[in-house]
Amino acid sequence: MRGRPKSDNSREKQYRVRLNEKEALNLDYVSSTTGQAKSDIIRKALNEYLHKVQINEYNLSPENDDLIMEGINMQRVLKCPYCGKTNIFDFTDLCNVSSYERQMGTENLYEFDEVELICTNCNKKSMVNGYISEYPLGAFNGEEIKVAKLEEEE
Ligand SMILES: [Zn+2]
Repeated sequence: MRGRPKSDNSREKQYRVRLNEKEALNLDYVSSTTGQAKSDIIRKALNEYLHKVQINEYNLSPENDDLIMEGINMQRVLKCPYCGKTNIFDFTDLCNVSSYERQMGTENLYEFDEVELICTNCNKKSMVNGYISEYPLGAFNGEEIKVAKLEEEE
């Protein structure tokens, strides 16, 4: 019996990834919103991260100083804790930035402490706390964003 000729693109490797509940929900959300398979989403995310790591590696080399690194996206969609309306929020100018030297260069930690969010729907104030981490430069590394009520409910 002759088997099917193997293409270089055949997917024979397997890698199991454990997700916590929030990560699984995020994957469900991206999959149902974009209509793409979860495996494709993970492949695409890996590809994007790969490009950022490669650009960062190129940048770290002393003979390559011609690239200007684009920062990571600091916009987030946050849900109002009172009415549930989603608000777009830009953390760019609201953070304290600290930098750490790591294997692939600099990690930037953008921390925000008691930043006020005013809902575009109900006008109520919330408080936003957390951080966004960029590592390597140009790549999203991790985040924690908490939105809490700042007013008493009527
Ligand atoms: Zn609201």
